[in-house]
Amino acid sequence: MNKKDELINYWKDSKIITDERAIEAFRKIPREKFVLPEYVDRAYNDIPLPILAGQTISQPTTVMLMTQALEAGEGDKVLEVGSGSGYQAAILNEIVGKSGKVLTIEIIPELHKFAKSNLKNYKNIKPILSDGSLGYNAEAPYDRIIVTAAAPRVPQQLIAQLKNNGILIIPVNSESVFGGQDMIRIKKNSNGKTKEENLGAFSFVPLRGKGGYE
Ligand code: SAM
Repeated sequence: MNKKDELINYWKDSKIITDERAIEAFRKIPREKFVLPEYVDRAYNDIPLPILAGQTISQPTTVMLMTQALEAGEGDKVLEVGSGSGYQAAILNEIVGKSGKVLTIEIIPELHKFAKSNLKNYKNIKPILSDGSLGYNAEAPYDRIIVTAAAPRVPQQLIAQLKNNGILIIPVNSESVFGGQDMIRIKKNSNGKTKEENLGAFSFVPLRGKGGYE
Protein backbone atom coordinates (compact mmCIF):
# COMPACT_ATOMS: atom_id res chain seq x y z
CA MET A 1 0.00 0.00 0.00
CA ASN A 2 1.32 3.49 -0.79
CA LYS A 3 1.90 6.10 1.93
CA LYS A 4 -1.08 8.20 0.86
CA ASP A 5 -3.50 5.27 1.33
CA GLU A 6 -1.79 4.34 4.60
CA LEU A 7 -2.56 7.83 5.94
CA ILE A 8 -6.19 7.60 4.79
CA ASN A 9 -6.57 4.21 6.45
CA TYR A 10 -5.02 5.53 9.67
CA TRP A 11 -7.50 8.42 9.76
CA LYS A 12 -10.46 6.13 9.03
CA ASP A 13 -9.44 3.35 11.46
CA SER A 14 -8.71 5.77 14.29
CA LYS A 15 -11.83 7.84 13.40
CA ILE A 16 -9.67 10.99 13.68
CA ILE A 17 -11.10 12.10 10.34
CA THR A 18 -14.69 11.12 9.64
CA ASP A 19 -15.49 13.80 7.05
CA GLU A 20 -15.56 11.92 3.75
CA ARG A 21 -15.32 15.13 1.70
CA ALA A 22 -12.06 16.02 3.46
CA ILE A 23 -10.70 12.54 2.75
CA GLU A 24 -11.79 12.70 -0.91
CA ALA A 25 -10.09 16.11 -1.27
CA PHE A 26 -6.90 14.68 0.25
CA ARG A 27 -7.08 11.74 -2.17
CA LYS A 28 -7.47 14.07 -5.13
CA ILE A 29 -4.92 16.85 -4.41
CA PRO A 30 -1.27 15.86 -5.06
CA ARG A 31 0.65 17.04 -1.94
CA GLU A 32 3.87 16.15 -3.75
CA LYS A 33 3.21 19.10 -6.10
CA PHE A 34 3.16 21.56 -3.16
CA VAL A 35 6.45 20.58 -1.47
CA LEU A 36 9.98 21.52 -2.51
CA PRO A 37 11.59 19.03 -4.96
CA GLU A 38 14.00 17.74 -2.29
CA TYR A 39 11.06 16.64 -0.09
CA VAL A 40 8.90 14.91 -2.70
CA ASP A 41 9.70 11.46 -1.30
CA ARG A 42 8.43 12.64 2.11
CA ALA A 43 5.23 14.24 0.80
CA TYR A 44 3.05 11.58 2.48
CA ASN A 45 4.93 11.33 5.75
CA ASP A 46 2.73 12.75 8.49
CA ILE A 47 5.08 15.63 9.23
CA PRO A 48 5.30 19.35 8.43
CA LEU A 49 7.94 20.09 5.78
CA PRO A 50 10.05 23.22 5.22
CA ILE A 51 8.97 25.40 2.29
CA LEU A 52 10.57 28.79 1.53
CA ALA A 53 11.53 31.65 3.86
CA GLY A 54 11.69 29.44 6.97
CA GLN A 55 7.97 28.54 6.74
CA THR A 56 6.32 25.11 6.64
CA ILE A 57 3.57 23.18 4.90
CA SER A 58 1.55 21.77 7.79
CA GLN A 59 1.47 18.02 8.45
CA PRO A 60 -1.33 16.15 6.65
CA THR A 61 -3.21 15.26 9.86
CA THR A 62 -3.29 18.94 10.90
CA VAL A 63 -4.56 20.00 7.44
CA MET A 64 -7.30 17.36 7.65
CA LEU A 65 -8.32 18.22 11.23
CA MET A 66 -8.61 21.91 10.34
CA THR A 67 -10.47 21.13 7.11
CA GLN A 68 -12.92 18.92 8.98
CA ALA A 69 -13.41 21.48 11.77
CA LEU A 70 -14.14 24.22 9.23
CA GLU A 71 -17.27 22.32 8.02
CA ALA A 72 -17.12 24.08 4.64
CA GLY A 73 -19.57 23.08 1.93
CA GLU A 74 -20.36 23.45 -1.76
CA GLY A 75 -20.60 27.11 -2.81
CA ASP A 76 -18.88 28.59 0.25
CA LYS A 77 -16.62 31.62 0.05
CA VAL A 78 -13.55 30.86 2.17
CA LEU A 79 -10.71 33.11 3.30
CA GLU A 80 -7.40 31.47 4.21
CA VAL A 81 -4.75 33.53 6.01
CA GLY A 82 -1.28 32.04 5.36
CA SER A 83 -1.09 30.62 1.81
CA GLY A 84 2.35 29.03 2.33
CA SER A 85 2.52 26.36 -0.39
CA GLY A 86 -1.13 26.74 -1.41
CA TYR A 87 -1.94 23.15 -0.39
CA GLN A 88 -4.62 23.92 2.21
CA ALA A 89 -6.29 26.29 -0.28
CA ALA A 90 -6.33 23.52 -2.91
CA ILE A 91 -7.95 21.10 -0.43
CA LEU A 92 -10.63 23.66 0.47
CA ASN A 93 -11.23 24.48 -3.18
CA GLU A 94 -12.08 20.83 -3.77
CA ILE A 95 -14.72 21.01 -1.03
CA VAL A 96 -16.37 24.31 -2.04
CA GLY A 97 -16.47 23.24 -5.68
CA LYS A 98 -17.00 25.28 -8.82
CA SER A 99 -19.72 27.42 -7.27
CA GLY A 100 -17.46 28.36 -4.33
CA LYS A 101 -14.38 30.52 -4.00
CA VAL A 102 -11.18 30.40 -1.94
CA LEU A 103 -9.18 33.57 -1.28
CA THR A 104 -5.77 32.90 0.20
CA ILE A 105 -3.55 35.67 1.60
CA GLU A 106 0.20 35.50 2.13
CA ILE A 107 2.43 38.18 3.66
CA ILE A 108 5.82 36.96 2.32
CA PRO A 109 6.27 37.82 -1.40
CA GLU A 110 8.43 34.72 -2.10
CA LEU A 111 5.73 32.44 -0.69
CA HIS A 112 2.91 34.27 -2.45
CA LYS A 113 4.78 33.57 -5.70
CA PHE A 114 5.28 29.91 -4.71
CA ALA A 115 1.58 29.45 -3.85
CA LYS A 116 0.47 31.28 -6.99
CA SER A 117 2.60 29.05 -9.17
CA ASN A 118 1.43 25.84 -7.39
CA LEU A 119 -2.20 27.00 -7.79
CA LYS A 120 -2.03 28.20 -11.39
CA ASN A 121 -4.47 25.56 -12.62
CA TYR A 122 -7.01 26.13 -9.84
CA LYS A 123 -9.46 28.62 -11.31
CA ASN A 124 -11.55 29.34 -8.20
CA ILE A 125 -8.63 30.21 -5.93
CA LYS A 126 -7.46 33.81 -5.64
CA PRO A 127 -3.96 34.19 -4.11
CA ILE A 128 -3.40 37.65 -2.59
CA LEU A 129 -0.16 39.25 -1.40
CA SER A 130 -0.98 41.19 1.77
CA ASP A 131 -1.03 41.16 5.55
CA GLY A 132 -4.06 38.98 6.26
CA SER A 133 -3.88 39.15 10.05
CA LEU A 134 -6.86 41.52 10.03
CA GLY A 135 -8.58 39.57 7.24
CA TYR A 136 -9.38 40.92 3.79
CA ASN A 137 -12.16 43.45 4.02
CA ALA A 138 -12.36 44.07 0.25
CA GLU A 139 -14.21 40.79 -0.35
CA ALA A 140 -15.83 40.23 3.06
CA PRO A 141 -18.04 38.69 4.38
CA TYR A 142 -16.94 35.05 4.26
CA ASP A 143 -18.72 31.79 5.05
CA ARG A 144 -15.51 30.38 6.51
CA ILE A 145 -12.15 31.82 7.63
CA ILE A 146 -9.11 29.66 8.36
CA VAL A 147 -5.85 31.01 9.77
CA THR A 148 -2.82 28.73 9.38
CA ALA A 149 -0.35 30.66 11.56
CA ALA A 150 -0.28 31.19 15.34
CA ALA A 151 -1.97 34.37 16.57
CA PRO A 152 -1.49 36.06 19.95
CA ARG A 153 -5.29 36.45 20.21
CA VAL A 154 -8.35 36.22 17.96
CA PRO A 155 -8.40 39.39 15.82
CA GLN A 156 -11.89 40.91 16.15
CA GLN A 157 -11.73 42.02 12.50
CA LEU A 158 -11.83 38.36 11.45
CA ILE A 159 -15.01 37.78 13.44
CA ALA A 160 -16.49 40.92 11.87
CA GLN A 161 -15.74 39.57 8.37
CA LEU A 162 -17.57 36.30 9.08
CA LYS A 163 -21.15 35.85 7.81
CA ASN A 164 -23.91 34.77 10.16
CA ASN A 165 -23.71 30.96 10.45
CA GLY A 166 -20.02 31.29 9.59
CA ILE A 167 -17.05 29.48 11.16
CA LEU A 168 -13.55 30.76 11.95
CA ILE A 169 -10.62 28.47 12.86
CA ILE A 170 -7.45 29.97 14.30
CA PRO A 171 -4.53 28.66 16.37
CA VAL A 172 -4.06 31.01 19.33
CA ASN A 173 -1.03 30.93 21.58
CA SER A 174 -1.76 28.91 24.65
CA GLU A 175 -1.26 30.21 28.15
CA SER A 176 -0.25 26.70 29.26
CA VAL A 177 3.30 26.08 30.50
CA PHE A 178 3.72 23.60 27.63
CA GLY A 179 3.46 26.43 25.08
CA GLY A 180 2.11 25.78 21.57
CA GLN A 181 -1.34 26.87 20.49
CA ASP A 182 -4.95 26.07 21.17
CA MET A 183 -6.97 25.54 18.01
CA ILE A 184 -9.90 27.90 18.50
CA ARG A 185 -13.12 27.47 16.55
CA ILE A 186 -15.62 30.30 16.59
CA LYS A 187 -19.13 29.74 15.27
CA LYS A 188 -21.40 32.69 14.54
CA ASN A 189 -25.09 31.87 14.75
CA SER A 190 -27.94 33.21 12.62
CA ASN A 191 -28.30 36.20 14.98
CA GLY A 192 -24.60 37.07 14.77
CA LYS A 193 -23.80 35.74 18.25
CA THR A 194 -20.49 33.88 18.61
CA LYS A 195 -19.54 30.73 20.50
CA GLU A 196 -15.94 29.66 21.04
CA GLU A 197 -14.55 26.12 21.39
CA ASN A 198 -11.04 24.83 22.02
CA LEU A 199 -10.22 21.90 19.70
CA GLY A 200 -6.88 21.03 21.31
CA ALA A 201 -3.14 21.67 21.14
CA PHE A 202 -1.18 22.35 17.92
CA SER A 203 2.08 23.98 16.88
CA PHE A 204 2.32 26.65 14.15
CA VAL A 205 4.71 29.33 12.89
CA PRO A 206 3.76 32.82 14.16
CA LEU A 207 1.22 35.08 12.48
CA ARG A 208 2.90 38.33 11.52
CA GLY A 209 1.37 41.72 10.81
CA LYS A 210 -0.97 44.07 12.61
CA GLY A 211 -3.18 41.38 14.14
CA GLY A 212 -0.21 39.09 14.80
CA TYR A 213 3.28 39.62 16.15
CA GLU A 214 4.06 42.51 13.69
N1 SAM B 1 -1.53 26.82 4.71
C1 SAM B 1 -0.17 26.67 4.26
C2 SAM B 1 0.00 25.50 3.32
O1 SAM B 1 -0.99 24.82 3.03
O2 SAM B 1 1.14 25.28 2.86
C3 SAM B 1 0.82 26.58 5.39
C4 SAM B 1 0.89 27.84 6.13
S1 SAM B 1 2.37 28.13 7.06
C5 SAM B 1 2.16 27.04 8.42
C6 SAM B 1 1.95 29.76 7.66
C7 SAM B 1 1.99 30.84 6.60
O3 SAM B 1 1.39 32.02 7.11
C8 SAM B 1 3.40 31.21 6.17
O4 SAM B 1 3.53 31.09 4.80
C9 SAM B 1 3.52 32.67 6.63
O5 SAM B 1 4.36 33.45 5.83
C10 SAM B 1 2.07 33.12 6.55
N2 SAM B 1 1.74 34.32 7.33
C11 SAM B 1 2.22 34.69 8.55
N3 SAM B 1 1.65 35.84 8.91
C12 SAM B 1 0.81 36.24 7.92
C13 SAM B 1 -0.04 37.36 7.71
N4 SAM B 1 -0.15 38.31 8.61
N5 SAM B 1 -0.77 37.41 6.58
C14 SAM B 1 -0.68 36.44 5.64
N6 SAM B 1 0.13 35.36 5.77
C15 SAM B 1 0.86 35.26 6.90
